[in-house]
Amino acid sequence: MNTILKIENLSKTYQSAGKTLTVLDKVSFSVEAGSTVAIVGPSGSGKTTLLGLCAGLDRSSQGIVELNGIALEGLTEDQRAQVRNQHVGFIFQNFQLLPTLTALENVMVPLELRGEKNIKARALDLLDKVGLGHRHHHYPAQLSGGEQQRVSLARAFSNQPKILFADEPTGNLDAETSEKVVNLIFDLNREAGTTLILVTHDLDLAAKTQRILKVKGGHLVSDEMVGQFGG
Ligand code: ADP
Repeated sequence: MNTILKIENLSKTYQSAGKTLTVLDKVSFSVEAGSTVAIVGPSGSGKTTLLGLCAGLDRSSQGIVELNGIALEGLTEDQRAQVRNQHVGFIFQNFQLLPTLTALENVMVPLELRGEKNIKARALDLLDKVGLGHRHHHYPAQLSGGEQQRVSLARAFSNQPKILFADEPTGNLDAETSEKVVNLIFDLNREAGTTLILVTHDLDLAAKTQRILKVKGGHLVSDEMVGQFGG
């Protein structure tokens, strides 16, 4: 197995009003490169926290996260940002596009950060892939939710990430738009061999992945292979 993500005894606690709140408790699993994984569980069970730790957006209280062989714990903020920029793509429920930039400029940001060349042509290419090349000059507020999520998908794939983290990617979309966005996510995953880890409460979406991890009360309570239909 070619492991892209390894989590060992991962815990996250918060201090609040003199008490310690444990939101993740000794979670361990590994993810194979190129596979598709859904993290499900009740609201407040720690899914978003887990995703943020796996993606290096947040720091664990204890335990190990190894992303593409790189241990994140000992890194500075800058080093972790660099790892994210090189290996990771994100999409979020609320899209998180920069409102003052056009669709094209939003997709260009990660390419600029990496100091790449021909970024305008490449960003246009990515927007074409998600069916929005003709809307490249539009600002997020001029686009529907589904269109904004497609822009954020183009942005997420702009650095050719080894792993895409998606937090409730269809949470703000109607059923029809959700289906289109989901198909696009899996198409891009297949085409580029990108590992996909998504948090969702949509069990139909979870069933499209190869593996479902269930989190409850900060614990990993089940880890099931869904079968040959995933991804
Ligand atoms: P889920 O994604 O499953 O809904 P979260 O990971 O967002 O769950 O949250 C898990 C728990 O951690 C919740 O009880 C939440 O209130 C708590 N939590 C998240 N962030 C913080 C924080 N910064 N400070 C204190 N508690 C937090």
